[in-house]
Amino acid sequence: MEKKKMETINLNLWYGDKQALYDITMPIYEKKITALIGPSGCGKSTFLRCLNRLNDLIPNVRIEGKVLLDNKNIYDEDVDVYDLRKRVGMVFQKPNPFAMSIYDNVAFGPRIHGVRDKKELDKIVEWALKKAALWDEVKDELDKNAFALSGGQQQRLCIARAIAVKPEVLLMDEPTSALDPISTQKIEELMIELAKDYTIVVVTHNMQQASRVSDYTAFFLMGKLIEFDKTDELFLNPKKKETDDYISGRFG
Ligand code: ADP
Ligand code: MG
Repeated sequence: MEKKKMETINLNLWYGDKQALYDITMPIYEKKITALIGPSGCGKSTFLRCLNRLNDLIPNVRIEGKVLLDNKNIYDEDVDVYDLRKRVGMVFQKPNPFAMSIYDNVAFGPRIHGVRDKKELDKIVEWALKKAALWDEVKDELDKNAFALSGGQQQRLCIARAIAVKPEVLLMDEPTSALDPISTQKIEELMIELAKDYTIVVVTHNMQQASRVSDYTAFFLMGKLIEFDKTDELFLNPKKKETDDYISGRFG
């Protein structure tokens, strides 16, 4: 039996009067890759942001239901959101390195969380850049500004920055949609490698990508979770007509 690292229970979300998520109950298994698929506007990013309370930053959002992390509701009043976001990190669609050196980008999180020792920081930076499959390309120019890197390198840098604080769960919102095919392949390989240690939830509009990298797939439609299953099962033997229509390209 897989262990549930996270779980949403009857999760509903409204932007003002408009409901964007309907009663989503879904497990997220530990050290597995879960892909979220579905047409644009179906609520994938909204759902992903619920998992580390990034929606808290948007005005007029109302959330009902529970999101459990190791069986504890992250929306409980006693939860430190700052600590939560250290445990559940996020990588966005567009690479968004900070306007600073490669080294400082990766050291940013550890510094905020109190690591001051230069040797210790050096170690973390090297470890994270190696994990993100970027070390060999940048080890001689760590002082260079992050903006000098290519798009694919910038995205791997953002992944290094995210894992430098040793999160338990990594959320990725269409992490390769702004990248060329070679960078995309690198990131996909990296995700599979990272899933040995981390729980990953990835939004993708690319069904081939979902079937290549993920262990589980969730299909969303108009704010509802239509089907959740092992990836092979969902793609080869969908149980719902809407899923079948979507994966066979009949709409969306
Ligand atoms: P997806 O990532 O699947 O494309 P989103 O989660 O971005 O979908 O959007 C789901 C729905 O919520 C859409 O109707 C979208 O217009 C709406 N929405 C998303 N973000 C906001 C926001 N900040 N304010 C109001 N409505 C939003
Ligand atoms: Mg989105």
